Amino acid sequence: MANNVLVIAEQRDGVLKKVAFEMLGVGAELAAALGGTVEAALLGSGLSDLPDALAQYGATKVYVADDEGLAAYSSEGYTDTLAGFVGQVEPAIILIGATAMGMDLGPRLAARLGVGLASDCTALEIDGERLLATRPIFAGKALAKVKLNGDPQMATVRPNVQPAPEPDEAATATVEPVTALTGNVRAVVVDIVGAGEGEIDVSEADVIVTGGRGVGGPEGFAPVRSLAKTLGAAVGASRAAVDAGWIEHAHQVGQTGKTVTPNLYIACGVSGAIQHLAGMRTSKVIVAVNKDPDAPIFNVANYGIVGDLFEVVPLLEKELRALLAE
Ligand SMILES: Cc1cc2nc3c(=O)[nH]c(=O)nc-3n(C[C@H](O)[C@H](O)[C@H](O)COP(=O)(O)OP(=O)(O)OC[C@H]3O[C@@H](n4cnc5c(N)ncnc54)[C@H](O)[C@@H]3O)c2cc1C
Repeated sequence: MANNVLVIAEQRDGVLKKVAFEMLGVGAELAAALGGTVEAALLGSGLSDLPDALAQYGATKVYVADDEGLAAYSSEGYTDTLAGFVGQVEPAIILIGATAMGMDLGPRLAARLGVGLASDCTALEIDGERLLATRPIFAGKALAKVKLNGDPQMATVRPNVQPAPEPDEAATATVEPVTALTGNVRAVVVDIVGAGEGEIDVSEADVIVTGGRGVGGPEGFAPVRSLAKTLGAAVGASRAAVDAGWIEHAHQVGQTGKTVTPNLYIACGVSGAIQHLAGMRTSKVIVAVNKDPDAPIFNVANYGIVGDLFEVVPLLEKELRALLAE
């Protein structure tokens, strides 16, 4: 058993996800505590420039499975390929981003390797030579500290919680090609239909402006969308707004929507139900606009504005526009 940490570096259309760099940062710390190094696994098709980027963020070695059959994410193809070489590499720890892909791949790979998985972790450390993972439970009301029996120890890591390291442009990594195992793929991706043109996905956004039931209808999202556009932000929604048919489910934040950790989360007309908080309470800075001063969202907000969102949000946008223009 080596003391290395293996980061599964997710890419889509040849662009690495930010969480890959974040995991290399925390992975390097874990590896240093174990006396090992951090390595990366990269799967996909046409990946030529990406190993260099992973090296700059700390990977000492990059295992690359570059194959047409891995061009789109496939549960079976990715699991078979990873399980095919992880046995020889024997990492102490495997880290996967808690993204849509990682939430599918993590449990499947763990089951294949016959080990446990700590999912959606917000902190990772080494305690007595074993991984100690922190994960929010009960919709974020409590934090569980988890140790895993068996090796490798596997965790999925919540995006945007760990800082990405500063890249070192001079750093290089050994690139080791590995065999893509796509022979047993039974489900084939035929087409990928993207979200609305130019829309930013809430799970990838640094800034999110969310509308809740308080917007009052589909047209009530106009000031929310306008503020989001000014800030280059994604538009989020509460379940109440989604269930009412005012906006598509892809925008929903919360227990049955997406978990987000942006640098800035602006909640407009959202009461702050526990199921909504479950998806956004780890945001770095939370701003709430609500006309009810007792709305629970103010308990988690760093900045609260009590007022009618139809007055406050356009004013906020005007001020921010002026600031951004400076
Ligand atoms: C199993 C389960 C899973 C769930 N999953 C999710 C989930 O993933 N995401 C989620 O969001 N919810 C989820 N819910 C629903 C959740 O319990 C709440 O019902 C929902 O979050 C409420 O949405 P809201 O805050 O937009 O609406 P409300 O609770 O109705 O709040 C609307 C708020 O808008 C304010 N307001 C009204 N008009 C204005 C105005 N003009 N200006 C400013 N403020 C105004 C009001 O004061 C109020 O605080 C789930 C529930 C269950 C049972």
